[in-house]
Amino acid sequence: MSERPDVLIVGAGFAGMYAIHRFRSQGLSVLALEAGSDVGGTWYWNRYPGARCDVPSLEYSYGFSEDLQREWDWPEVFSAQPDILRYANHVADRFDLRRDIRFNTRVTAVTYQEAANLWRLETEAGETLEARYCVMATGCLSVPNTPDIPGADDFEGCVLHTGLWPAEPVDLTGKRVAIIGTGSSGVQAIPELAREAAHLTVFQRTPVYTVPANRKAMRAAVQEEFRANYRQIREMQQNNAGGVSGFRPVKSTSRTERAADRTLNLPSAVPMAPEQGGMGILDLTEEQRRTLVRERGLGVLLAFRDAYTDPEANEAANTAFRDGIRDRVRDPETAEALCPTTYGLGCKRQVLDRDYYDTFNRDNVTLVDVRRSPIEAITRTGLRTGDAEYDFDVLVYATGFDAMTGALLRANITGRNGIRLADKWAHGPIMYLGLALSDCPNLFTVTGPGSPSVLCNMLVAIEQHVNWIGDCIDYMRRHGHERIEAQPDAEAEWVQHVNAVAEGTMYTTPSCNSWYLGANIPGKPRIFMPYVGGYPRYRERCEQVAAAGYEGFRFG
Ligand code: NAP
Repeated sequence: MSERPDVLIVGAGFAGMYAIHRFRSQGLSVLALEAGSDVGGTWYWNRYPGARCDVPSLEYSYGFSEDLQREWDWPEVFSAQPDILRYANHVADRFDLRRDIRFNTRVTAVTYQEAANLWRLETEAGETLEARYCVMATGCLSVPNTPDIPGADDFEGCVLHTGLWPAEPVDLTGKRVAIIGTGSSGVQAIPELAREAAHLTVFQRTPVYTVPANRKAMRAAVQEEFRANYRQIREMQQNNAGGVSGFRPVKSTSRTERAADRTLNLPSAVPMAPEQGGMGILDLTEEQRRTLVRERGLGVLLAFRDAYTDPEANEAANTAFRDGIRDRVRDPETAEALCPTTYGLGCKRQVLDRDYYDTFNRDNVTLVDVRRSPIEAITRTGLRTGDAEYDFDVLVYATGFDAMTGALLRANITGRNGIRLADKWAHGPIMYLGLALSDCPNLFTVTGPGSPSVLCNMLVAIEQHVNWIGDCIDYMRRHGHERIEAQPDAEAEWVQHVNAVAEGTMYTTPSCNSWYLGANIPGKPRIFMPYVGGYPRYRERCEQVAAAGYEGFRFG
């Protein structure tokens, strides 16, 4: 590790890990600073029972190394957290990444030193490090959100957050457990907690649209077929709106299996390209829709692409979804409380589950609708809502994240002339391509706001950004440039474009309150943060920018 590396990388999740490898391979010295005690980012922190990826593992994996693809076996089609973390560790060992990572090191300030043209990073331990380039690989969902509920510190039991779950197993046997939150994390954790705890109380504010996840174990023949076609698969990813190839094994699956895959549960939670659509939901009567859901499950509703573009079709799908929940959950009052009514399918990231609705048919599970009777306070022994008191031993927050901007703001970035990111972003994130900021020369972000990021297969988005940054640094060195900086007009024009493409989509309907819009954090500006124009269109724009000598940037 050199004294002053060429590049300081903040974070050693999947983005930081690839950045170390990529930058090293082009002859740069690097040092990554990571708050956790090991690699893996999201998959290091989110160890809650049931944590699992919502993109198939053969797609949610690095594509930069043929050897890595050849040697790694996934045990399931959609991997559980421990397997993804094992993969991250394997990658760290295989490419000897740890020698350039400083663990247990949280960055508290990132400040541009104009005269020296260096970035100075300060750590929680009081250390200072400097480098010419700084790459923020801090993740999109890495700052857990814990709501400010009165009395939260009074609770005498055990408090956990899904996004900060302890590494050592938590024994919930015989315990009364409560969970707040029914987003992706809550939906995954609830069935597992219910199986383990003596009693589980679920505090739900907004019901979710969730569909059963694919539970297939990985068959060796399927893995082999992917291996044989990886080159083509990676290319297909580059041309798919969500960065998912959708490749289906042909040789190693039966015709029935392939047909089921086409009509049932979608492969992943990232949006499919509209061209993959088929029949419209309005072509069916209400009764036919209900029968279809009874026969094939709720996942079938996601196959109607018009439900994501046409408000009438969307309402038809929402109605069929609610009917499906009523058919599934025995207690009518609980079923009604589980029915989403305030927003439609497609407004939030699709949630995938294992036994979610069936869990509410268990005797040891109670659903509390806190929209009807809001949480008033956390007490010494539990929680109080408007009309009842609940006692429990363990409180689990599944209350999400300060998404996309949270980690960048927490790093206290200060650019040229003392301009603070917190001030610049007071009304929402402004940056160029989700990659760079004006007044912050030589600082790059991986999957920042304004890039496809969370609307894309994250591994594809990460590799594209890291490669672009690596190529840019290479270009600068070849051309003798010491500084690159996004131009304010390019930044403004891009933000305008990001907003324009999001307008009129299901994501931004007035009834939609998602973390994509920052709506989950009180006081956060309501702006649609990821780029919804599709990964290929975005990638091409990045390529054009580079090919035109880094259009929208200024060198110095
Ligand atoms: P989330 O989607 O933001 O859900 C947070 C939940 O907590 C919501 O139900 C929210 O209710 C509730 N909540 C927040 N504050 C509350 C309060 N004060 N009182 C009552 N309820 C409150 O967060 P998440 O479930 O962690 O998921 C975030 C994202 O992480 C996902 O969309 C996904 O991208 C990713 N993720 C993926 C996976 C996967 O791969 N399968 C798993 C977990 C997470 P309201 O809706 O009313 O605000």
